[in-house]
Amino acid sequence: MTELVMEGRDVQRDKLVDNLDAVRQRVSRACERAGRPVSDVTLIAVSKTHPVGAIRALHRAGQRHFGESYVQEWQQKAQQISADDFGGDDLVWHFIGHLQSNKARFVADGVDLVHSVDRPSVMRVLQQRARHRVDVLLQVNIAHQASKEGVAPQDLLELLAAAQGYDRLRVCGLMCIPPYVEDAEDNRVYFRQMRELFEAARAWLAEHVADDDARGAALADFRHLSMGMSGDYEVAIEEGATLVRVGTAIFGERDYAR
Ligand SMILES: *Cc1c(COP(=O)(O)O)cnc(C)c1O
Repeated sequence: MTELVMEGRDVQRDKLVDNLDAVRQRVSRACERAGRPVSDVTLIAVSKTHPVGAIRALHRAGQRHFGESYVQEWQQKAQQISADDFGGDDLVWHFIGHLQSNKARFVADGVDLVHSVDRPSVMRVLQQRARHRVDVLLQVNIAHQASKEGVAPQDLLELLAAAQGYDRLRVCGLMCIPPYVEDAEDNRVYFRQMRELFEAARAWLAEHVADDDARGAALADFRHLSMGMSGDYEVAIEEGATLVRVGTAIFGERDYAR
């Protein structure tokens, strides 16, 4: 019995690593098509709802960047991993879930990049709670979806201006979650608009950050476009994504009931 279970686990691990390899290859090919070096794009394995054992298996296969969406789940996993001895202290954590100001304090430390900042109240909490600089992305509601978080595209520069008032935040770029579509091509228009907003934001920084050193730093920091999920990451890379967030294509379907 035990042996059977163990065998089952090994098969699962092999499957995970196969999936990871397949996604990595697709990332490389998308980079090639776009004439971009592979080093331009970081693959984030979105591990929400999946166990630490799966993270460990991928870590062994060289994966370092992981994304989580729920504060409590992330805290538990991070704790488990730091108590574990598989060498997971070089994991890079991305917080990609919706953030309200009451949750923001929990990700002010320990998360390497917070993707989902979309309002000054969250910035304020991060500023107050952070012991070090916090790297953040500004989340844009690029498709104007009623149900989605994110700043409206027309309000992005105002939010970027507000961010300048929080010296503990380092604004590293933009993030979006476009609609779920059957055909990834349907989201190309949104990825392209994100690229335009990214350029507009950089132009704003170049024009409005007065101090020379601060302006240089702000422009060097502002370098990421977090866009593309399992269904559309290749199109996102073609349109300029530097961070792709892939869950299902690596881990399989999520089971929220578990
Ligand atoms: C869950 C999630 C993902 C991963 O989605 P898949 O379709 O499983 O690849 C990416 N980004 C965000 C913000 C998510 O919440």
